[in-house]
Amino acid sequence: MLYQETREEVLKYAVKCLENGLIHGTAGNVSARVPGEEAVVITPSGIPYDTLNPEDLPVVSLHAEIIDGNLKPSSETPMHTAIYRARPNVNGVVHTHSMFATVFSILEKEIPAMMPPSSAFAPVPCAPFQIPGSEELAESVVKTLGTDHLACTMQGHGQITACPTLKMAYRGAECVEEDAEIAYWTLMAGRMVGLPADAVAELRRRALKGQAV
Ligand SMILES: [Zn+2]
Repeated sequence: MLYQETREEVLKYAVKCLENGLIHGTAGNVSARVPGEEAVVITPSGIPYDTLNPEDLPVVSLHAEIIDGNLKPSSETPMHTAIYRARPNVNGVVHTHSMFATVFSILEKEIPAMMPPSSAFAPVPCAPFQIPGSEELAESVVKTLGTDHLACTMQGHGQITACPTLKMAYRGAECVEEDAEIAYWTLMAGRMVGLPADAVAELRRRALKGQAV
């Protein structure tokens, strides 16, 4: 079936987010572009991932219209589809409210690159606050991600990764959270010293080529 493989992959990484504590309950969402199609598979709204079968996952167009499936797509679908429209090189998106990345989003603070390999997705900029689920939030995130950021936070909300593969977007969500936690504790210890700028640039180059994860 056309969408089956992508549905299986999205469900696999959504469950991994749950198991590894990146997502609590249903507070997050995971999606992937269907290869060669103008279509995206996304987690449904408000249903625990570990109770789903792959065929339950909604398939939507790049403009968030339902193509297949009986369940309501995630309320953050407009944010996911806006990223896929703006970034042809993005094929996987993971959004979570993981603790330390969210703390930085509340502080409106960029998460700096602290140490490799968790810094592969840093620096992580912060998108200005907009109401969750709104077109304005979608615009804010697309603008903040720009042409080459692989991750950003959303002020007072959480983090989002947008990568060439869903596997990388999942790994990115882990890395951003780990980097944010290290940054938080060094900040608490009194001085937050990031990596030198040339090291950050080299790590970004490697991450963009898919080498870092
Ligand atoms: Zn959210």
